[in-house]
Amino acid sequence: MSLTKKILIALVLGVVTGIILTFVPEAVFSKLDTYLLTPVGQIFINLIMMLVVPIVFVSIVLGTAGLGEPAKLGRIGIQTITFFLVTTAIALCISLALAFAIKPGTEGVFDVSIADYEANEAPPIMETLVNIIPTNPVSSMAAGDMLQIIAFAIFVGIALAILGDKTSGIHRLFNQANEVLMYLVNVIMKAAPYGAFALIASAIGGAGLDAIGSMGAYMGTVILGLFIHAAVTYTIAIWFLGRGNPITFYKGFFPAMSVAFSTASSNATLPISMKAAQENLGVSKSISSFVQPLGATVNMDGTAIMQATAAVFISQVYAIPLDFTDIILIIITATLASIGTAGVPGVGLIMLAMVLTQVGLPVEGIALIIGIDRLLDMLRTSLNITGDAVCAYIISENEKRKGKVS
Ligand code: ASP
Repeated sequence: MSLTKKILIALVLGVVTGIILTFVPEAVFSKLDTYLLTPVGQIFINLIMMLVVPIVFVSIVLGTAGLGEPAKLGRIGIQTITFFLVTTAIALCISLALAFAIKPGTEGVFDVSIADYEANEAPPIMETLVNIIPTNPVSSMAAGDMLQIIAFAIFVGIALAILGDKTSGIHRLFNQANEVLMYLVNVIMKAAPYGAFALIASAIGGAGLDAIGSMGAYMGTVILGLFIHAAVTYTIAIWFLGRGNPITFYKGFFPAMSVAFSTASSNATLPISMKAAQENLGVSKSISSFVQPLGATVNMDGTAIMQATAAVFISQVYAIPLDFTDIILIIITATLASIGTAGVPGVGLIMLAMVLTQVGLPVEGIALIIGIDRLLDMLRTSLNITGDAVCAYIISENEKRKGKVS
């Protein structure tokens, strides 16, 4: 049986087991979760996380060196950032339109008096930008600071490209390191069905079905937004910009989407999404290595969809009307918040505080949606990494047509 089939079966079994677990007594679930589901899931996440920093570093060095001259890198870089920003803006328009049409916050009764949430201060945007250049790349790697690792790797890659033959030894070393890492990804993927099953059963069993009750309309609005963005925006992009077949794309990329769904982390999924893009979709290695790690860190359409829907939802629950300026503010701040969201579980919700503060909405509103956020996190993370792969695919196909990459 193919790995994709096994993962698909694990997903279905995980959901069914999770639903069954919501009916067993809390004490039984908690024992099962602590001693079986969480450890199995966590071992799987640790196995892939173990490879993330080395893969990001090695593959971006190779990707940048492979793109050759800095001018080409600049061109691909501009295309990538433009694609990321445009698709995020479209995602936000879709989710705002849905939230205003469906009005999830006026359904059901929400007790706002018990809402209590302590918001974390979001770092100022200038500080984030300046800090992209690491003062100590080794500590960036130790801390797993993706943007800093990416910046350092791009510098090293440019140097390798310019120095050419003089550095062929170290170039070969990076190539061989890449082989080793990709081999390990293959090995670890064999554990994916078990890890995915445990993670999903634990997440669904832990959230409980009654938590979903009154939140159904909000969840439905977010899920519809995610679905429309994948089925319309990405499909059109693959078709018209990449001249590819969207069904083949989704089939080939499914293993990565399912791992994103079970881990709810773009970073943890990165090794698998790069492998799926390169091996199943034929994306050029140098483009995949450059676009996907960057996208896993800064491009999060699914997170933006949740943040915009949540802002409108909270305004409706608290009966605070939003005018046109507020809507523009939501679009701008949700774009920035999704860029600032780290690719790990739950951070999108923390960054939502930034959007709410800018628009003058109560931050305590986050308390209303926190209980069901894990389930939405799983879905939006799948969309987040799909956006990166769509971008890599389109750029790679166009470069191939121009004969500029193999
Ligand atoms: N979990 C998401 C990701 O890793 C980020 C978020 O929205 O919380 O892509």
